[in-house]
Amino acid sequence: MIPFSPPRVDERTIKAVEEALRSGWITTGPRTKEFERLLAEYIGVERVIAMNSWTNAAELVLRWYGVGPGDEVIVPAYTYCATANIVAHVGAKPVMVDVLDDFTMDPAALRKAMNQRTKCIIPVDIGGLPCDIAAIMRAAEESYSYFTPKVNLRVDGTNPQMRLGRVLVLSDAAHSFGARIGGKPVGSQADITGFSFHAVKNLTTAEGGALAFNLPEPFDMQELYTFINTMSLHGQTKDALAKTQPGAWRYDVVQPGYKCNMTDLQAAIGLVELERYEKETLPRRRVICERYQTAFADDQRFIAPKFNVERDGVVHASCYHLCMLRLKNATEEQRDAVITAIAEKGVSVNVHFQPLPLLSYYKGKGYRMDDFPTAYALYKGEISLPVFYDLTDGHVDEVVKAVQQAVEKVLG
Ligand SMILES: *Cc1c(COP(=O)(O)O)cnc(C)c1O
Repeated sequence: MIPFSPPRVDERTIKAVEEALRSGWITTGPRTKEFERLLAEYIGVERVIAMNSWTNAAELVLRWYGVGPGDEVIVPAYTYCATANIVAHVGAKPVMVDVLDDFTMDPAALRKAMNQRTKCIIPVDIGGLPCDIAAIMRAAEESYSYFTPKVNLRVDGTNPQMRLGRVLVLSDAAHSFGARIGGKPVGSQADITGFSFHAVKNLTTAEGGALAFNLPEPFDMQELYTFINTMSLHGQTKDALAKTQPGAWRYDVVQPGYKCNMTDLQAAIGLVELERYEKETLPRRRVICERYQTAFADDQRFIAPKFNVERDGVVHASCYHLCMLRLKNATEEQRDAVITAIAEKGVSVNVHFQPLPLLSYYKGKGYRMDDFPTAYALYKGEISLPVFYDLTDGHVDEVVKAVQQAVEKVLG
């Protein structure tokens, strides 16, 4: 069986975790701080904070920004449920918009959905292809004229809605660590960018996530780091590492915070992953994806995946997280039958994603698939092919053959 996306765990990874275990420091500590510093350097921002998942990290951003009941947050209909679930967690309303035919948020649909209740936009870089973040930032900047900040939010002068004065852009870059816009890594384009280091993602820490801060003046990135760090540790003013200083046992709790810090065991994995990301991970993923692309490019039964898109003359380059092949002219049922036939050949594939309106919870809330025709059209033919570091060229060719034979069997 060819698996879909196993993590790359070798002797180096195991040794790094072993060293962390033997160091006597296994929770948030020096390895996490080093991982944060190197992530910031890679991305090209002043500050990055690492946490236990994208989900908890991004939810803290909504809480920091004071998003809650009565507010709206705009998300694409085509994404993983986490993007909208965090909006539900804080009691706000996810407002869904349709996507472009490259799977990313349609800026025109976004503009139509924005109003005085809009507090945040969460675009998603599906499969690792960066969305049109420049157009999305422009739409957010146009909200200066009608944005209505909450006035009674943190009255100590740090009210972030009053300071920013417009809709916040929180990029869901769970798939796009290392993707590039005009040659620059994703993370310094939106106000705040969230990454996921879940086991299946391009760069993993088993479970994990991070936020890259990029807010304009007069925001202070160090102050924001401290606020989010405190929120991730019960609102406690000192973390375990700070309390190890001689006599520094006393701390305060400034608010009922959450618990979602990254551990040094996770960071130990992340440090190994990051060190070989540019030299090994990305080039190998690229070779695999381009091999698939070439194999399906001239076959009329398929729509080959896109890994580079030019928007306003700027190249948006994928980090090859997913290889999203599409069947042309197949129904959802036929696609499902093709997947079964592929599995019978010993190959694991997946569908990314079932659009949110197809999921019971969101369907029950009144979201209708018919309102997002492009999302459905993309979804019904989508098949994500295996991509992982240890997949050989021979395996890629086996996958291609399995897909071709499955399509012949089902669609003739
Ligand atoms: C994986 C994923 C997330 C959630 O990341 P976690 O680290 O598992 O919380 C969010 N959005 C998208 C698009 C994802 O694929």
